[in-house]
Amino acid sequence: MEKGQISVTADNIFPIIKKFLYSDQEIFLRELISNATDATTKIQTLASKGEFKGDLGDLTIDIILDEKKKTLTIRDRGIGMTESEVKKYLNEVAFSSADSFLKKYKDEANIIGHFGLGFYSAFMVADKVDVITKSYKKSKPVKWSCKGDPKFQLSEAERDFRGTDIVLHVSDDSTEFLQKSRIQSLLDKYSKFLPFPIRFGTKTRTEWEGEGEDRKSTEVVEDNIVNNTDPLWKKKPNKLKEADYKDFYRELYPMSQEPLFWIHLNIDFPFNLTGVLYFPKLNNSLEIQKNKIQLYSNQVYVTDDVKEIVPEFLLLLHGVIDSPDIPLNVSRSYLQSDSNVRKITSYITKKVADKLKSLYKKDKEGFEAKWDDVGTFVKYGMLSDEKFFDKAKNFCLVKHTDGTFQTFDEHVESAKAAQTDKHDRTVILYANNDKEQHSYIESAKAYGYQVLLMNNVIDNHFMQHMEHKGENLTFVRVDSDTVDKLVQKDEEKASVLSEKQEEKVKTLFTESIGDLKGGQIELRPLSPDDHPVLITRPEFMRRMMEMQRMQGMGAMGDMPDSHNVVINSNHPLVVDKLLGKMANDKKDRFAKYLYNLARLNQNMLKGEELSDFIKTSIEFLK
Ligand code: ADP
Repeated sequence: MEKGQISVTADNIFPIIKKFLYSDQEIFLRELISNATDATTKIQTLASKGEFKGDLGDLTIDIILDEKKKTLTIRDRGIGMTESEVKKYLNEVAFSSADSFLKKYKDEANIIGHFGLGFYSAFMVADKVDVITKSYKKSKPVKWSCKGDPKFQLSEAERDFRGTDIVLHVSDDSTEFLQKSRIQSLLDKYSKFLPFPIRFGTKTRTEWEGEGEDRKSTEVVEDNIVNNTDPLWKKKPNKLKEADYKDFYRELYPMSQEPLFWIHLNIDFPFNLTGVLYFPKLNNSLEIQKNKIQLYSNQVYVTDDVKEIVPEFLLLLHGVIDSPDIPLNVSRSYLQSDSNVRKITSYITKKVADKLKSLYKKDKEGFEAKWDDVGTFVKYGMLSDEKFFDKAKNFCLVKHTDGTFQTFDEHVESAKAAQTDKHDRTVILYANNDKEQHSYIESAKAYGYQVLLMNNVIDNHFMQHMEHKGENLTFVRVDSDTVDKLVQKDEEKASVLSEKQEEKVKTLFTESIGDLKGGQIELRPLSPDDHPVLITRPEFMRRMMEMQRMQGMGAMGDMPDSHNVVINSNHPLVVDKLLGKMANDKKDRFAKYLYNLARLNQNMLKGEELSDFIKTSIEFLK
């Protein structure tokens, strides 16, 4: 037996390892299994090159739990190590890299938790580690033991098959890692898609035979293989069917609704990246869980925090990204400035834009049908990413209140002729609730205008963004003014009333309506076919209020829900009735009735007011 001292500068690194990695102890398993995977990949590569001529045999990696002995063993049938390799790799390479890693990142506890330390992370949970290994080369098996201090022991060992056992003698404060369920869940988290089978003991499955009364069950004991060694994203897209993608989605997120569509990422230059990104159903909400994209490095799970790699708006997507080229053992700020990472980010953005474009080109109707969900991504992307904005203009759709679609640019083009105002701006008219604003939409349409339905959670931001883009556009909601004023033009229509008559009408309404909380009463010469009285909510005031509400300010009555009242001075009910022979005491009630009719049209009559209105209507009809 040989005894020795690991050559390090820090006297005792293990307490440091324990202390700094404490919050994320569990990653030891990922690190050790990924070492086992590397060793297995290496023997496979050697075999394929003809440098290893023996039988590869079963390459399954075993995780063996022995609750009595309090050990957890990771066993691979990889290349193994010779005695001198053990000395070199475990005593020098592994240790010095652990040492320098810790020295460098001691102050950044959060990143240490995120990225592993390789072999030495075993000492987070074990107070003694044995490594029993036999190289594929002709050499004797050896056993290396270390008790979590810089001393190690090296001796001959018994082992008749190639590969390495890492035996962890689990320490008393880490006994959770002797629980079967805990290990199973860690394996599910970190090893789900590793390229070699990972076996964790056995499991029993119930098999049923026969029908009815003769139905018999037998318990079948079989290997508990925890992973899928051939995950979908590694396969060739042209070999896959729609059902395969949907099945894989269910494998990743068992309880989710079906995805809308997906993008298979596959690139090998200038960096390596594979993966599948799914567009989930958003149901008009941005509140869906982010952190649903999992990052892998050669099928080893790394993290589900991909903020640095995936552009913000695409964090709404689900799926998997696998890239060995994303540097993992580095800090966040470094990741952000890493040019590979930036390339990856812009590649993903471009791929998503291309996919959306081709979906739109190939199947307009299908794309339109999904627009309520897809639109949220697209608009979010246009708001947050300049490059995406330029690409997305080709497939960013707008929906008309009649359910038809155009691209945004097509719409501006087609609205220009009728909806350009005296300042030469194109006024885009919209409704955010086609039911409540129905009569306004109808008036606008009758006027020859087009009305969009902007009822997506993100539309307010989107409209503002488009206005700021400086394309000489302005958005105006259909109920923000009377139809003749929605698009401000120079021409003025004449009223059939004299100034004196107008004065009289205005006084009548002012007295019967009462306090308007800052709102105005106005007379306008609209078409006789338009409504006699209309409620309007000026665009500017409304946006201010909406902003206040969004910032959580103005909880109660800071800004009253003010509205203007417009009286159609060309309407027969005003011209002939109100100014006609009607008795004076009735005029008052009639004006109030017309006002309430306008409020009813805006869904503003509630409770007692509504009951009174109905009663009055019945009286009128008698
Ligand atoms: P890294 O894996 O980042 O190189 P580690 O500290 O995890 O660093 O391991 C150090 C070295 O020890 C590895 O590079 C490898 O040569 C060797 N090693 C670790 N585990 C195994 C194993 N299961 N089989 C063969 N060699 C191993």
